[in-house]
Amino acid sequence: MSQCRHCGAYVSPRDKVCSYCGAPNPDYQPPETDVNRLLQQGLDAFRAVAYNLGVMYKSMGRNREARKHLESALQLAETDPALDDRKRMKQTIKQKLETLP
Ligand SMILES: [Zn+2]
Repeated sequence: MSQCRHCGAYVSPRDKVCSYCGAPNPDYQPPETDVNRLLQQGLDAFRAVAYNLGVMYKSMGRNREARKHLESALQLAETDPALDDRKRMKQTIKQKLETLP
């Protein structure tokens, strides 16, 4: 909730304009913002799970499973459009993959 800069009414971030005076809401957030954020969180979670499974299988000596999960983590890192540290993440995953026998 923010306040309308024009009339001081409380304005939801869902409202493009103030519902009292019609002034534009500078804090307006289109619904896609939420969808993208949720998608992003989903991708992050999938990647983390795949990576962690890979590391776990690797530590158990189950290299085939480890490779499968690390490769899917790598794929998720490739397709993730908003991953800031994508390069570092890919590097980390590749290192794990390279040390697999
Ligand atoms: Zn207003």
